[in-house]
Amino acid sequence: MRFSEYLVESTHQDDVHGLGQYTSQFLQHLSSPVGAHEHDHGIFEWTHPALEKDDGGKLKLKGETSVSAPSHPENYHLTLSHTGTGHAESNDHHVINALNAGHVVAMVYQRGKGIPHPTHVEDIKTGKRWRLTNGDDDDNTFDRHAKHGIPKGEGVVSGLKLKGVSNERAGAFANQVDPDGIIRINKPADTYTHAPAAPKEKKHLPKTQAIIDKGEAERPEGNLHQRIHHGLSKAFGEMQTDSPEVHAAKTKESLKAWHEFTKARGYSSKSRLDFMGSNGKTEKSTGEGVKTIGVGLAPHSLSGLDHFDVCPRSSTECRANCLGTEAGGNKQYPDSSLAGKVLRTHFMAFHPEHAARVMDHEITKHKEKAKKEGMIAGVRLNITSDMPYEKYARPMFDRHKDVQFYDYSKIHGRVMGQNK
Ligand code: SF4
Repeated sequence: MRFSEYLVESTHQDDVHGLGQYTSQFLQHLSSPVGAHEHDHGIFEWTHPALEKDDGGKLKLKGETSVSAPSHPENYHLTLSHTGTGHAESNDHHVINALNAGHVVAMVYQRGKGIPHPTHVEDIKTGKRWRLTNGDDDDNTFDRHAKHGIPKGEGVVSGLKLKGVSNERAGAFANQVDPDGIIRINKPADTYTHAPAAPKEKKHLPKTQAIIDKGEAERPEGNLHQRIHHGLSKAFGEMQTDSPEVHAAKTKESLKAWHEFTKARGYSSKSRLDFMGSNGKTEKSTGEGVKTIGVGLAPHSLSGLDHFDVCPRSSTECRANCLGTEAGGNKQYPDSSLAGKVLRTHFMAFHPEHAARVMDHEITKHKEKAKKEGMIAGVRLNITSDMPYEKYARPMFDRHKDVQFYDYSKIHGRVMGQNK
């Protein structure tokens, strides 16, 4: 993206000449986790005097050290998630850009009597249409083109029927399907006046609250995203050079740290809580030859730690309908299910190096199991979060080249920098 395009998008003005006053806003964006990530990946092609390129052609803020722009890991597939149309927080324009660039986009649609199965998504401003494929059969968004015989380079939608809540409760989160089977997007921001109904008041969750209280008391100083970035890249980097003996010893220590962390927060000492697991959706991929596990963190800011949000581009609509709180076991066992997620989030934020080694251990075991069963090993790093692991844990993807990593994301900058 060019800086001028960024200005058009963020200021909603077509003529960006003389908009130098927006530079500070842009620089602020660059220092946020999302902006820093976009900057690092060379998402912005610079056309403004506040940034320059060094001798190697890398982007840098004037007077500061240049940053590298590593290519996106080939074994990490990202699908942009639509946030619904016709409301102020809609990401229609990013979705349309991604579809035009040949990406896969995930979209939720209304279900019910008389509502047809959608076949296409249409941009109402240009009339352009893209094919909608069934995203409910499996979770393998990385093979949408091959599975449905769609040529590479053509945008495709992975359609997901609304689950867990009613159309009324979902609000704009679920797209309307017109009687001709078309989902029409790019509607004006005030078209959808039906705000999502407020979620039912949750009962006090004692287990979760106790973990949050302990976490708040022990919260390390500083920016937790930076801490995770530093810890994960350090640990996964060391794994590249550690001898098998050293690696085994460090892994043992990290598994012990995780076990003690859970025990200190009320978990039984007999069984170790897995850091990674599966859910109903990832399990559907098994039928398609992919065995998947993933990391379920506490979505957006539900880990209760001040200034820490694992979904920096979530919307009011998606937070109200997040599968991390509204689907499956979350409804049946809201306290224990959220407690497990909060626990993982705190461990990741407080002890990222240990978390990296626990993840590495579980991914390795998972690969062995998948191999025995003649399946591809799949890993979803963000089942209920949206963290840029391609930046935070870059060496992990090289270390596990035989794993198909994949995720959904609402951060368009992450998606646009990747393989399609
Ligand atoms: S995981 Fe985060 S971004 Fe995704 S639906 Fe939930 S709140 Fe929204």
